[in-house]
This record gives sequence, C-alpha cells and structure tokens, in this order.
Amino acid sequence: MIKYLLKCENNHEFESWFSNSEEFDKLNKKDLLECIYCSSKKINKSIMAPMISNNKNLDNLDTIYKNLKNEKKNLLQIRNYIEKNFEYVGKDFSKKVREVYYDKKNNNAIYGTTTPEEREELADEGIDLLTIPWVSKDN
Ligand SMILES: [Zn+2]
Repeated sequence: MIKYLLKCENNHEFESWFSNSEEFDKLNKKDLLECIYCSSKKINKSIMAPMISNNKNLDNLDTIYKNLKNEKKNLLQIRNYIEKNFEYVGKDFSKKVREVYYDKKNNNAIYGTTTPEEREELADEGIDLLTIPWVSKDN
C-alpha cells in the first residue's frame, strides 16, 4: 500500500491509499478520483515515496518519522534530512541497496525509488527499508 497526498485544481489537499502507483494513474485517468471538498476531478499527486536502506542514520530517521503525523512541514524536514545525509540513487535503488547490504564495509546511506515487486524481493532477502512520503518543495 502506498499513501499519496493528493491535491485538486483548487489546492485542496487530502490523503488517499492505493495498492501501488499504477492504481493511482489508472483511477485518475478514468476520472474515478475526486476531491473530497469540491468534487473536482483534476487531481494530482503531491508526494511520492522513496525507499531508504537500513544504515546508521536510519534509527534517527525512524524516530523523526514516528513522531510526526504526516504534516507537510515535518515531511519537508525529513526530506531535507534525507537529502543532506543520503545519496540519491534513483531507480538503481534495489541494485545499490544490495551492494550496500552484502558489502559489510560499505555503509553508504542511500535513497531512491523501487517498484512494489523489487521491494518484496528485498524484504525476502532480509533487507529492511523505510518508506517516506515525499513532499514536493515547490508548492
Ligand atoms: Zn478541491
């Protein structure tokens, strides 16, 4: 499951759960999503959820994450923390995270995005990941 913060054309924000990002695209294309405030069907995602590998910074991050209630201001703080302390590897995340995991001397802090399938494979290998809602800075 993935939680998105959604935003309509009138800048109303509300949260919704989807089984994956494709489900969101599919529903949105069919105009099956609407704003809970004004019923507008022009809906956009305002966050995505990058995955983060387990490492020395994660406990700290986990604490911050648990202490907040998905408030945008706090999520932006998390984003800033991640950008400062983690290296962005984008879609190579599942490959890179294995390099970090299997090379014990390699303690890189990385973040990026995965597909739900990749995430399941990594979980099967015992690689713990943290999913963080990703707030965009430009709104
Ligand atoms: Zn609205």
